[in-house]
Amino acid sequence: MNSSAHHLTSKLPQLPESIFSTMSNLAKEHNAINISQGFPNFEPDPTLIQLVTKSMKDGYNQYAPLGGIYPLREVIAQKIELLYGAKYHPQSEITITVGATQAIFTAISAFVWPNDEVIVLKPAYDCYEPAIIANGGIPVLIQLSGKDYQVDWDDFKAHLNEKTRMVIINTPHNPSGRVFSKSDMLALQNCLKDTNIILLSDEVYEHIVFDSNTHESASKYPDLASRSFVCASFGKTFHATGWKMGYCAAPAELMQEFQKIHEFNVFCVNHPFQRALAEYLKEPAHYLNLSPFYQEKRDLFLNAIQGSRFRFTPTQGTYFQLLDYSEITDENDLDFALRLVKDSGIACIPISVFNKDLADNKQIRVCFAKTSETLLKAAEIIISI
Ligand code: PMP
Ligand code: GLN
Repeated sequence: MNSSAHHLTSKLPQLPESIFSTMSNLAKEHNAINISQGFPNFEPDPTLIQLVTKSMKDGYNQYAPLGGIYPLREVIAQKIELLYGAKYHPQSEITITVGATQAIFTAISAFVWPNDEVIVLKPAYDCYEPAIIANGGIPVLIQLSGKDYQVDWDDFKAHLNEKTRMVIINTPHNPSGRVFSKSDMLALQNCLKDTNIILLSDEVYEHIVFDSNTHESASKYPDLASRSFVCASFGKTFHATGWKMGYCAAPAELMQEFQKIHEFNVFCVNHPFQRALAEYLKEPAHYLNLSPFYQEKRDLFLNAIQGSRFRFTPTQGTYFQLLDYSEITDENDLDFALRLVKDSGIACIPISVFNKDLADNKQIRVCFAKTSETLLKAAEIIISI
């Protein structure tokens, strides 16, 4: 097809292929163990699958209400209150979305105007910057320091000005696994105090935190909650990334603007899955058991790679673990990851792609949302590198 009659100017001209697609495709091509892209290689709870099937058989196959079905929004509001002590009105303050990605894109579309600045902490998950740029905004990138990615809150504050429309945070953090502490959240709250800045808080790994860490949701901090979109993903929580189901919570005034974009972006989200999730979420154990479930996997994997030449600090949250390979080679992390998938039969994610200016810290990310068998096979290879 000839499109030369059109004068196309890309809104996202410098977009490389997603590292998740690159590595997962290479894993297939080389028949390698895929611990790169973040998804479980085991199935969701059969009870949840039965609930979806039942919803379809019961006839919930037409459009859902715009913001989502009330019973699901209600049970989400109850969950947030139970865990974080914050009250959201199910009807006006919670919206069901097509995964967290759509919640994030919609919040950005609703509030970011051309030339507005949006603070992004690097390394960052890949969906924030393209959404800001597609809406005419300017991503202001702040690199987190060291190999453990701490926030220097004085430096953060120095980046805020009258053009700052929004700040995006992600805790527990992909790719580093770092969990913001209470003092991080208080420092953030202090920095944003007396401003009109909106906070987009990506909390898709809220139910995966380890050891003595706790998830500090923005909804727990009243001054943050009053300016925040808190985004969540059922894909992460219920081992069903392919369902692309999520939600966000925000004060009514903000949610009203969000829904104006949501209406013309998707209108509403998959109905039978909402019915099933509304039922399944009534049992808090279904999400409260997730941290011990993944902590066991993390520990199995880390014990199995003791004695390897990789260095690591056990991850605080998420189902990702960073591995430092600086004692193995000087290669940059992308070359190293490409070599591992081709020569060693293991696919992982190089961290530089998430860093400001592609800074290479000689770290790779592995995903331990895998069966014990896969984790032990992967560990055997890692030990041999
Ligand atoms: N944010 C982060 C930090 C993620 O890792 C992911 C990954 N999947 C998403 C958002 C997107 O979530 P969803 O698949 O529900 O769109
Ligand atoms: N969130 C997943 C990860 O970090 C990937 C999602 C995607 O493939 N876009 O690996």
